[in-house]
Amino acid sequence: MITIALSKGRIFDDIQPLLKSAGIEVLDDPEKSRKLILDTNQLDVRVLLVRPTDVPTYVQYGGADMGVVGKDTLLESGTQGLYVPLDLQIAMCRISVAVRDGFDYTAAMRQGSRMTVATKYVAIARDFFASRGVHVDLIKLYGSMELAPLTGLADAIVDLVSTGNTLRANHLVEVERILDISSHLVVNQTALKLKQAPIRKIIDAFSAAVQTR
Ligand code: AMP
Repeated sequence: MITIALSKGRIFDDIQPLLKSAGIEVLDDPEKSRKLILDTNQLDVRVLLVRPTDVPTYVQYGGADMGVVGKDTLLESGTQGLYVPLDLQIAMCRISVAVRDGFDYTAAMRQGSRMTVATKYVAIARDFFASRGVHVDLIKLYGSMELAPLTGLADAIVDLVSTGNTLRANHLVEVERILDISSHLVVNQTALKLKQAPIRKIIDAFSAAVQTR
């Protein structure tokens, strides 16, 4: 049995063509079903639905043999115990700094005045501002980061941006791109040894599909 950990939404949707290239079709629609373990057309392949930040944990501890996870999550949680063979180039977005429309970000960065930054990505934000030699006070949030500058909780946020529509709808401006993000394949290192043939087959099919896209 090969168990693949995925999260609902963008990653689940974007991985379907790659799964198909490996001959795998998920039989349930996660938006309609409440099942957390989904069957596929292959009797020996199943899909687990987990939160994005839990994918590396399931794979690291062998709850799943492989999984798909955003680089943002990998950078925050580390890749300890994981084999990361492939950038799948799906769920593409970027991590950016955004501020309230009218906030002078350039001046705040230049003056070295302490900025307050709210984010789910504390490690990425800390490294970024440290690389610029700017001291910031970081506030950890778990969602709806856009609210922080609007309510005075923070001067800036560090968050994922795709189309920019969410920022615009909340009168926020993207002032700096920190890094590009895409989803990566992660594999449990023990599973790779014990189930080498079926796992390699999936990695090779994904790899070929990514290259021909
Ligand atoms: P957008 O309005 O298209 O810029 O999307 C921004 C919102 O979607 C933010 O709340 C992000 O946290 C979320 N988001 C954008 N891209 C991704 C992605 N690849 N994976 C997960 N969340 C994302």
